[in-house]
Amino acid sequence: AAYTPAADRYATMRYNRCGDSGLTLPAISLGFWHNFGDITPFDQMKRLVFTAFDHGITHFDLANNYGPEPGQAERNCGLLLDRYFRAHRDELIVSTKAGYEMWEGPYGTGGSRKYLLASLDQSLGRLGLDYVDVFYHHCPDPSTPLEETMGALAQAVASGKALYVGLSNYDGERLARASAILDGLHVPFVINQNCYNILDRTVERNGLKETAKRLGKGLITFCPLAQGLLTGRYLDGIPADSRAAHDPRFLRPEDVERTHAKIVALNEIAVERGQTLAEMSLAWLLHDDTVTSVLAGASKPEQILSNIKALDNTDFSDDELAAIDRIALG
Ligand code: NDP
Repeated sequence: AAYTPAADRYATMRYNRCGDSGLTLPAISLGFWHNFGDITPFDQMKRLVFTAFDHGITHFDLANNYGPEPGQAERNCGLLLDRYFRAHRDELIVSTKAGYEMWEGPYGTGGSRKYLLASLDQSLGRLGLDYVDVFYHHCPDPSTPLEETMGALAQAVASGKALYVGLSNYDGERLARASAILDGLHVPFVINQNCYNILDRTVERNGLKETAKRLGKGLITFCPLAQGLLTGRYLDGIPADSRAAHDPRFLRPEDVERTHAKIVALNEIAVERGQTLAEMSLAWLLHDDTVTSVLAGASKPEQILSNIKALDNTDFSDDELAAIDRIALG
């Protein structure tokens, strides 16, 4: 059946400018790392993307290796775009990445020109698109000269296969060097994608956040819910339908156990604020004006709806912020 998006889809979402660029992104974006591979029913994927787009979530984030199997999330996204979003391509930001291992041999990983440009062509093939909106280098590759990697991103834009470029998992120092090279090449580098949440403060310590702000670049934060730890999901154990139970490749039952006391304490603050833990965790990121968008995953449409509620209150008192820090960093 055809899909007719909600007529009021732009009524409530907040759109934040990506650094100093002309691009805006929804405060909440949808990640395709999990729940779009070959272990998820297609109907469920449909309901996820429809729910997102119906509420103004115009940004779908992918990477070459998202699956399982690697490539499968792009293939499924391609099917969804082809069947339901043909008339809406210009309302969507579709992002993809290359950097982690994607295919066998020396040219299927890293930061070489050879890998990045071949991978982008493969991604476009799977997505069934002529161009992606944002093409990222997924993770730093110290064994490739930064000039070569940035040159490949420049070519992706020059060839019309990407509109903007981004960097993911860089630190402040490497970001500054990369940004200078990209400026020299006149490349529209607009966004950084890094892990950031109440429990993971790496970007506050490695200079990324401060440098992104100083350079006028956007910051989209991945794993804003710490893969589900910063939600109500694991307050009373590990539910059978949760990521830690059914797909523990990256979130293991040990991680749940290790963080449980903090999660319970953070949940008490959320309750006092009249929010769920998921809402408070996203609001905590969005309260910071360096953060352009929070890149959340979802296994159920209801999770997307509840995450959007975070926008209802992104104000925090100094006492609340201090209490959150005491729990998270203690
Ligand atoms: P999150 O921290 O947003 O975790 C998402 C998971 O949390 C969901 O799958 C669901 O888990 C649970 N969840 C979400 N909302 C709720 C809710 N309201 N109530 C209860 N549980 C909820 O992020 P992800 O780990 O999924 O990462 C998000 C995206 O970031 C990825 O899809 C990807 O696009 C990007 N990413 C980028 C990386 C990079 O290197 N650049 C690395 C990792 C991710 P459950 O399945 O248990 O229901």
